[in-house]
Amino acid sequence: MLIREQVALAPFTTLGVGGPARYFVEVHSEAEVIEGVEFARSRQLPLFVLGGGSNLVIADEGFAGLVLKVAISSLSSPTPPHENVIFTAGAGLDWDTLVAQSVDANCAGLECLSGIPGTVGGTPVQNVGAYGQEVSETIREVRVLDLRSLQVQILSNAECGFTYRTSIFNTTDRDRYIILQVSFALQHGGKPSIRYADLQKFFATYAGDPTLVEVRAAVREIRHRKAMLIVPGDEDARSAGSFFKNPIVSQSFFEELVAHVELRGLQLPSYPAHDGFRKLPAAWLVEHAGFSKGYGKGAAGISRRHALAIVNRGGATAADIIALKDEIQAGVLKEFGIELQPEPVLVGF
Ligand SMILES: Cc1cc2nc3c(=O)[nH]c(=O)nc-3n(C[C@H](O)[C@H](O)[C@H](O)COP(=O)(O)OP(=O)(O)OC[C@H]3O[C@@H](n4cnc5c(N)ncnc54)[C@H](O)[C@@H]3O)c2cc1C
Repeated sequence: MLIREQVALAPFTTLGVGGPARYFVEVHSEAEVIEGVEFARSRQLPLFVLGGGSNLVIADEGFAGLVLKVAISSLSSPTPPHENVIFTAGAGLDWDTLVAQSVDANCAGLECLSGIPGTVGGTPVQNVGAYGQEVSETIREVRVLDLRSLQVQILSNAECGFTYRTSIFNTTDRDRYIILQVSFALQHGGKPSIRYADLQKFFATYAGDPTLVEVRAAVREIRHRKAMLIVPGDEDARSAGSFFKNPIVSQSFFEELVAHVELRGLQLPSYPAHDGFRKLPAAWLVEHAGFSKGYGKGAAGISRRHALAIVNRGGATAADIIALKDEIQAGVLKEFGIELQPEPVLVGF
């Protein structure tokens, strides 16, 4: 295990901003994870767990502790046919590799989550979701190192406390666990999920039932159009994905807002959320607060193909990204009375 010093972190992120890590180590086994943690503890260093760096903004000053990059990349699954096939993947495995393998094995449950960058271990953290699926629907259990006891534990799906873009890993137990491995229960021979409007539109003129492979390809195609698929050289894809979560508001607030936007001749889109609440598309709020696709000054801007993605057009600093984030948040607050919450994790600020 090689612990390096003053390692630039920007190249380990999709946004490509941020300063160095004081110490940096890539760990390939559970034993190495524990060794890394003990190194940090022996020097009283703060610890940051890095996956694929696709949901991060790292400060220009970097991180004054140990960055532990989880690279455990095992993958096992029983041979189909079994109705429920359990795929067990190391936290460091590339997420889309798992999706591709599950689809190739004719197992349903992850096909709509294709093309999301990052690692398997990153997905439970914010209960990754897209095109009508969330990992909470298929995660069976999560194997973790509990940093309080330094013991390895298995957390059931229920113990992970999943809701929209939320789990115990990014709320109540933030920084308590290192995710080592995740198991997914997938359905062999199951039908693909085509619940989301964009996907339904894609297959509207299609004769017959699309297969899992075709749905995965469609998701990637739709994501590519929105620059939500990382393609080398695509400036609009140099982002941390959607920068803001879709806000969830009470019914009474929603009704007030509907009346407010009607005065501007606009119709507010919304979706049902839990307990009678409404979910609002953050992209609509951003655009109607005056921040259209392509907006930006200098190296930080809004993607030309996705109103929610803040992009590094080349040479942006973390300060540039945060200044644009602040400007958008202030604009949406002023126009709609809603404080948008960032989705990426801010590190070292
Ligand atoms: C182009 C693009 C499109 C995207 N599309 C989507 C989308 O459709 N839906 C969606 O939900 N997200 C999306 N994202 C966001 C991101 O890809 C996901 O959140 C992803 O799961 C993050 O995983 P990661 O391995 O890159 O985590 P990182 O960015 O490295 O880390 C994110 C957080 O997870 C923690 N973490 C990572 N690994 C571990 C581990 N092993 N143990 C404990 N904590 C860990 C980190 O400490 C940090 O707090 C997109 C991002 C990009 C750039």
